[in-house]
Amino acid sequence: MKCRFISKVGWDAKLVNESYPWVEKQIVHRPKFSPFQRAVRDSLIDTGVSPFNGFTYDHIYGTKVGGTIFDRFGRRHTAAELLASGNPEKLTVLVHATVQKIVFDTTGKNPKAVGVIFNDENGKQHEAMLGNDKQSEVILSSGAIGSPQMLLLSGIGPKAELENLNISVVLDNHFVGKGMIDNPMNALYVPSNRPVHQSLIQTVGITKKGIYIEASSGFSQSNSSIHCHHGIMSAEVMK
Ligand SMILES: Cc1cc2nc3c(=O)[nH]c(=O)nc-3n(C[C@H](O)[C@H](O)[C@H](O)COP(=O)(O)OP(=O)(O)OC[C@H]3O[C@@H](n4cnc5c(N)ncnc54)[C@H](O)[C@@H]3O)c2cc1C
Repeated sequence: MKCRFISKVGWDAKLVNESYPWVEKQIVHRPKFSPFQRAVRDSLIDTGVSPFNGFTYDHIYGTKVGGTIFDRFGRRHTAAELLASGNPEKLTVLVHATVQKIVFDTTGKNPKAVGVIFNDENGKQHEAMLGNDKQSEVILSSGAIGSPQMLLLSGIGPKAELENLNISVVLDNHFVGKGMIDNPMNALYVPSNRPVHQSLIQTVGITKKGIYIEASSGFSQSNSSIHCHHGIMSAEVMK
């Protein structure tokens, strides 16, 4: 992956590129290709979403078959499994720990994250601070909504908004919390008289117009949903 973003934020591009296959090898699988997904693949190619790029994890224009976190037994694999590659002697995992804020050292030119304050399941507050090891770091990964929320609670965000909420400003940054957008999706249901093999998204059409075409099929539906065998094609607009 060659990306200006990676060099701009000062990450090690080699390490970033090595990390993808490392993660993929452990939790991503090649899907068992279902008949509906095969039909979708052929239809996409027929309608000009080409070339066909085969099975690949790469994000390339055309039609492809992507990886899945379900293995051939239908078991789902998650990022939690990556912990198994760590050294248990050196690893402490806390569950039911809700981070309240990131602690910053503000004595240098730029604020530096040096720890977190978190509550346990009984609401008791604790601190986890970095050790002296130069490689120690705080990694913020609380999701699309949780990560900007945590930055704001910790004093990084638009100054006026933070001051309004009596949050001490660590860094004035107008962009925090402002980049959330919807990825609108249109779904097309294809009813069938016969049961349709169940499949999650396997085939993907990636167009140059920023629209992804994906498909799933054969789900058991809730009462509020459609009541017949079907496949679903969806077009999702990605910005
Ligand atoms: C309905 C839906 C469908 C999606 N479908 C796809 C798809 O098909 N393919 C795809 O690639 N992506 C899909 N995505 C996007 C994908 O789920 C996210 O991009 C991905 O999960 C982001 O991973 P993350 O680790 O950054 O955050 P998350 O998976 O959101 O994990 C954040 C974690 O932080 C925890 N957390 C939050 N706040 C705190 C706190 N204060 N203290 C402690 N923990 C906290 C949360 O409980 C959560 O466990 C979908 C998302 C949604 C909502």
